[in-house]
Amino acid sequence: MDLHNTCESVCAALFGKGEVCSRNELKELLGIGDADLDGALDRLVGTGILIAISGGDKGGVDALSFAPNLALAGVSIDQNDIGAELWFPASRIRHRRSVVASDSDPVPPAIALLREILKSAPDTKVASLGVAFPGLIDTTNGHVQVSTHFPEFNDRPLANEFVEALGCESPVLVERSAVCDMTHALLFSGRELGDALLVSLKTDLSAAALLDGAILYEKSGKLSELGHLKILGGDIPCVCGGTGCVETVVGRLAWEREYGRLRRSANGLPSSLDEALERGVAEAETLVLESFEALMPILECATTILAPEQMLISSDLPADIAEKAAAFLLGKLQSATFGASVRDVIPLNATSTVDGAADIGACWLAGNPQYSGKDPGAAAGSGPWR
Ligand SMILES: [Zn+2]
Repeated sequence: MDLHNTCESVCAALFGKGEVCSRNELKELLGIGDADLDGALDRLVGTGILIAISGGDKGGVDALSFAPNLALAGVSIDQNDIGAELWFPASRIRHRRSVVASDSDPVPPAIALLREILKSAPDTKVASLGVAFPGLIDTTNGHVQVSTHFPEFNDRPLANEFVEALGCESPVLVERSAVCDMTHALLFSGRELGDALLVSLKTDLSAAALLDGAILYEKSGKLSELGHLKILGGDIPCVCGGTGCVETVVGRLAWEREYGRLRRSANGLPSSLDEALERGVAEAETLVLESFEALMPILECATTILAPEQMLISSDLPADIAEKAAAFLLGKLQSATFGASVRDVIPLNATSTVDGAADIGACWLAGNPQYSGKDPGAAAGSGPWR
C-alpha cells in the first residue's frame, strides 16, 4: 500500500462528500484496512486539512471533518462575468463575488476579487485554487493552448500568472469551463450521473463528458471546440474566423445577434434579449427554442461515440425556456436512431441553480488530488496569499 496514494484517495473521497465521513464509509470507499487508513489520516491531520473528531473505535461514531479555516478557492472567467469563490468544506460556507467582465484582461480583476474575499476571512488557509476558463487547456501545467473567445490567451501560461500574482504556494489547476460545470452538476444537481454529456451554451458552445461517473479527460479539443464544427453551411461569420459553425446559430452570441435583427424589423420589443425572455415575448422565445434544432448534427456525432444516458444543458436562460429546450431535445433524440441511449435531458441554468457553478466546480477539481494530481495538503499550512 502506497501511503501517499492512500492520502490522495482519502482527500478525494472527503472533498467529494464535502463535510464528514465515517471511518467505515471511508474504508469501504477506498477498499483499505484500518492500519492503512490510520496512516493516511495521520498525515492529513498533520497538514491541517483534517481534524479528527468524535467517537472511539469501539462502536462509537468515528467521524472526521475538515479543518474549519481550510478553504478551496475557485475562479471562473467568462466573456460576461468573472467570479471568485472561497469554499470552506467543513462548514460548507461559500463566499462569492463577481464582476461584469470588461474588454480588458480578465486576470487582474479575478485576482482582485480573490484578494478581496481573502481579506474578509483573514485566518483562511487556502488548500488549492481552481480556475475555470473557456478554451483548450493543458491541465498538467495550467497552460491555455487555444481559446477561440479569448485569442489573446492562446499559448499562455495562465496558472503561472495566478501563482506569480498571488504569491501562492497552493496548487493551481486550470480547467475548461464546461468540465467545471459538469463537476458542479455532479456535486449539486441531486442526480445520480453515470454516462452523461454536458453541452454548455453560455458565450461559447462547448461540451464535457462523464464516463461511468468519471470526467472524461480529453486532449484533442473536440469537445471544447464543439461549437466550431463547420457542419451547417451558410455564411454567418464566426468569432473563430470561419463560417458555418454551430455556434453561429445556437448559443448566446447567435441569440443576441438574431434578437437585434428582430428588433430592427419590429417595433416595441424590449431592448435586450434577457428582458424579452423574462417578459415572455413570444418572438424571443421562438428564436431561442428553434435554434436548438442546430444542435442535432453535433449531438449525432457525440451521442454515437459516447452513448450518454443523460444530457445536461448548461445555459443562462430563464428556467422555463431551459425546460422547454430540454424537452424539445429529448423528443428529438428519442425519435432519432443515434440518440437512443439518452433517457433524460436535464436543464442546468443559472437562474435555477446557485451562481458560480463553474467556480465551485473548479474549486472541487483543484482540491481533488485524484483529478488534479496535486496534493493540497502540501500547501495547506502556508496561510493566505499575499
Ligand atoms: Zn467558429
